[in-house]
Amino acid sequence: MKISLKLSRLEIRRTKVKWIILHHTEDEYHGASASIIDNSKYQMNPIMNVVLERNDPDINYHFIIDKIKDEYMVFTCRPFVTLCDYSDISVNTNNAAIHIGLMGSYDFTVPEKRLYEILAFRLLSPLLKLFILNPNRIKLHREVSNEKRTCPGDFFDKAVVISMVRKFVMK
Ligand SMILES: [Zn+2]
Repeated sequence: MKISLKLSRLEIRRTKVKWIILHHTEDEYHGASASIIDNSKYQMNPIMNVVLERNDPDINYHFIIDKIKDEYMVFTCRPFVTLCDYSDISVNTNNAAIHIGLMGSYDFTVPEKRLYEILAFRLLSPLLKLFILNPNRIKLHREVSNEKRTCPGDFFDKAVVISMVRKFVMK
């Protein structure tokens, strides 16, 4: 089964990107049991199944990072000129946000150094460069939610992300 690709079902972004918000898939795709633990198998299909069950217009992140065999891969999940749908994040913030989902649950697992490296090298540093943003524009879902959440997981360490971003800064 495949998601039908219809831009009419997505809201086009009208404001500049000001925030990059990080999640783990356990928070938004709890129903997809396979996606809760990152087991190094390709796990996009369980996420797709939840999207189809909910009749969502697309996956609710712009990008997902999934570990396949022994390396982390970045998937583009929704055009980044469209908005994701987060009722617990203020409209002003969400309208200016790019959302990145990390496959798995970091409430139970400590993220590997390689995940932070791929996140910084393939996504965060290029996105900060493209949108001319300071690293302080990177937020965790739990920092911008008006609900009590751990997303992207209790073990996810923002200080490590920021140090990696500084390591891969693009001039
Ligand atoms: Zn989240």
